Parts: sequence; C-alpha cells; structure tokens
Amino acid sequence: MTAQRSSLRPATPSAARARRTLPGVRRTLCAASLALALAAGPAAAAAGGVEWPAARDTAAQVEKAGLTMLDTEQLAMHIHTILEVFADGEQVTVPADIGIDRSGPEPLYSPLHTHDETGTVHVESAEWRDFTLGQFLTEWGAPREDTRFGAPLAWVDGRLWAGEADDLVLRDGETITLRYTSR
Ligand SMILES: [Zn+2]
Repeated sequence: MTAQRSSLRPATPSAARARRTLPGVRRTLCAASLALALAAGPAAAAAGGVEWPAARDTAAQVEKAGLTMLDTEQLAMHIHTILEVFADGEQVTVPADIGIDRSGPEPLYSPLHTHDETGTVHVESAEWRDFTLGQFLTEWGAPREDTRFGAPLAWVDGRLWAGEADDLVLRDGETITLRYTSR
C-alpha cells in the first residue's frame, strides 16, 4: 500500500510543475492557432498559402481561351465537371465567377464558368462540342501566371492522365484532380 501511494506522488518537484503547466500550454497553443485560422479566413486556411483568384479581365481571358461571352446561359449542352486543385499537396480553392464578367449592367457568361467555390465547372453551350481543361485554366488565368509551379499532373476519376492536362476534354460527372509541384 505504501508503494502505491508513493508512486502517485511526483518524482521531483520540477516534474510536478511540468505536469501542471502542460495543460495550460496546450490551451494557449489552441487559442493561438484558432486566432490565426480566424484571421486568415476559411478560404485562405484551405488554400495553404496558395490563392489563385479569378481573373479580373474576364472578357480578355475568355477571348484568349478562344471562347465567346454570351449574355445568357445557353443550355443546349449543359454538363458539370468537378475540378480539384492541389499545390504542393495543399488544396487550392477554385474561385467563384471564373468566366463570368460582372463589370457591366448585366453579367456575361463564357460557356465555361464557375458559380461557387465547390470546384464545379459548368459547361453551358448553345451547341454540343468539346471544351478542354486548358480553355478553363486560361480563363482562370492565375494557375498559368504563377511561375512557382510547373505544369500539373492530372487524374480523371482517380486515374492518372498520361497526356497534357490542357488537352483533357471536360466530361459530365467526372472529377479532374490537378497536382502542381514547386519548380
Ligand atoms: Zn450548370
């Protein structure tokens, strides 16, 4: 009985102090990281330091992609592809309003655009034709302009794509994953 009681006692006064201070240290760290997360905002926290906002000169980017802005969303062809983007392993937010020009009184739409930050790429066209990931990335602009990264590797529904990511044709219901790596 004596042995049990003594084993519950701290071995040294300094060890006891260490044990007592530990929970306090943990609480302080949690509060600090929470404050950082709140200050950075959810998008920045998810992006892990890489933020690629939608292009401001939407019309110019869309023209560069070889597409034409429309004053209404054309729905003869209407499919959705999910795009996930990672830069050095950290997920990058695919911004809302890629391919949508809101500078005028009414919005103008590219056949390729995003409405939100879910990574859903809307393909809405008056005619059925192929649209490529390269066209969408040109509209977005930022992944092209960020020279820290080389060309990405691409996966389609989890299968590695052997060709250039730009050449991927957007297909309904597929998930395209792009992984960029620092040069
Ligand atoms: Zn849609």
